[in-house]
Amino acid sequence: MKIEMTPVALCHSPYKQKFAIPRQPRLVPAAVGRLMLQGECNTADVLRGIEQFDYLWLIFSFHQNLHQGWKPTVRPPRLGGNERMGVFATRATFRPNGLGMSAVKLRGVGCDQGQHYLEVEGIDLLDGTPIYDIKPYVPYSDALPDACGGFAQQAPEPMAVSLSDTARQQMDDAERRQPGFRQLAEQVLAQDPRPGYHKDDSDREYGVQLHQFDLRWRVINGVNHIIAVVALPE
Ligand code: SAM
Repeated sequence: MKIEMTPVALCHSPYKQKFAIPRQPRLVPAAVGRLMLQGECNTADVLRGIEQFDYLWLIFSFHQNLHQGWKPTVRPPRLGGNERMGVFATRATFRPNGLGMSAVKLRGVGCDQGQHYLEVEGIDLLDGTPIYDIKPYVPYSDALPDACGGFAQQAPEPMAVSLSDTARQQMDDAERRQPGFRQLAEQVLAQDPRPGYHKDDSDREYGVQLHQFDLRWRVINGVNHIIAVVALPE
């Protein structure tokens, strides 16, 4: 049976590239996104009562990976990228139906010139991600604190983050233009975005676009050292 679905919302996210997006939601609480309701869902009616809930489940498409298809086994970064596991034993983005799910914190709802939106924090979604459903997180049923988490039992240990003198000044400027940017950048880097096979390669310079800034860093003695924060042309 084939089912056709239309996105109920599109996610506006600070993450403009897949690289450096955290591997799960809420690891970077400073990542705030807006879910812009679409089509017949763009009405206050679909949101009535939603503010009673602290968290929401988002069901979305890994839309930027769909064209690459999927394989029955994948190599989870958690296992260093060397061991293969069944796709259904992982949260890999390459899946038969390309669907993801994330529990995110609801900050509030709003409407700007007829565009209804939900503001959520702790997202792990790329800018432009289509959302196919939104449901309240219900702790009595959804929270399972004693459950075994297999090879992903614990959240990864955060890495330390530092700034060069130049980056510190640029960061102050970025913070003025985009309040909360420094916290976002530091929380993103604390998650160590490097792929597993780079972990011994300390000379490399990394860069990623967050909001309208190019964030650049190197790993020096196990610390993510920010070397530049460059504003990109709008
Ligand atoms: N929490 C979700 C889940 O478990 O289904 C997502 C987990 S998945 C491992 C998280 C990764 O998905 C992020 O690191 C990012 O690289 C990737 N991602 C996020 N949005 C995406 C999109 N729209 N298309 C493709 N990849 C995406």
